[in-house]
Amino acid sequence: LAKGMGKGGWQRYQSDLASSMVQRLELRTQLYEAVEDEQFILQFQPIVELADQRVTGVEALVRWQHPTRGLLSPFHFVEAAEENGAIVGIGNWVLREALRQIAAWKAGDPGTTLRYVSVNVSPLQFRTSDFVAQVREALEDAGARPEWLLLEITESLVLKDAEKVIRDLRALRAMGVRVAIDDFGTGYSSLSYLRQMPVDVLKLDKSFIDDILTSRQQHALVDAIVTLAENLDLAVVAEGIEEAGQWHALDTMGCRYGQGYHFAKPLWPADIPALTAGLAEPAALSA
Ligand code: C2E
Ligand code: MG
Ligand code: MG
Ligand code: MG
Repeated sequence: LAKGMGKGGWQRYQSDLASSMVQRLELRTQLYEAVEDEQFILQFQPIVELADQRVTGVEALVRWQHPTRGLLSPFHFVEAAEENGAIVGIGNWVLREALRQIAAWKAGDPGTTLRYVSVNVSPLQFRTSDFVAQVREALEDAGARPEWLLLEITESLVLKDAEKVIRDLRALRAMGVRVAIDDFGTGYSSLSYLRQMPVDVLKLDKSFIDDILTSRQQHALVDAIVTLAENLDLAVVAEGIEEAGQWHALDTMGCRYGQGYHFAKPLWPADIPALTAGLAEPAALSA
């Protein structure tokens, strides 16, 4: 990379690198303060039923309202927050805020099509000794039902400490909370281990969806995963659907749910009610 840049290019590359490292370091040291000050905010991306595009869930996606740098995507801070532990505080705030929000949406529209909010949980957060208790408390404080919550965990979590993780997953599901494996296909897990995992939903990573229209092999692979998941009683959400063709191909395979820019980008909370408006209220009004 640096070789073909010439001398000036290389120097520029080095100073870019240095300043971006300084920036990263600075952000990292500001993370705990950001938790204290609640500088985070949530967007919500609709998850739709592929058959009719009805919005049945939303995924909560965190953003950092940085005092001087503006709105920062998770790309800029989640990894650092995992490394220095700030992700535990961030994640707990996200969980509580997401539940508060869905309780408000449910209260605002009793006929809403929205059944659940999906919340990303970092491995570090899941491993805190009182995670299950934190979830229970967050549900109680928000006045939210356990069925309104879907927790997204990653494959890597399950590979370490499998016994404790499985025990906690069972406890959560016994409460009525559902669990999804996020970014499925990017980690090291095999399909066979899924059978032992107490989870409800598979989220197929975007990288799997990207090529289904252009690669016969990729299409066949996704088709097989969808069929297998169905047979294991797992619901499948396809992530990163950007084109109508992908949507139709997945629908034809029997994949029930999807998420992606083709349907909606992550949205501000105020935009959600219009997309999930139930028919119950207007119908009752006109009667
Ligand atoms: P993820 O959980 O796999 O979330 C999906 C990401 O893909 C989101 O990026 C979303 O905006 C993006 N996306 C959705 N549909 C499309 C599409 O059609 N095309 C493309 N190109 N992208 C699409 P975002 O919001 O930047 O989040 C990135 C990652 O950061 C998330 O990936 C998740 O791993 C992490 N993250 C976000 N919020 C939280 C959180 O509250 N806690 C933790 N621990 N991690 C979070
Ligand atoms: Mg996710
Ligand atoms: Mg995902
Ligand atoms: Mg993904």
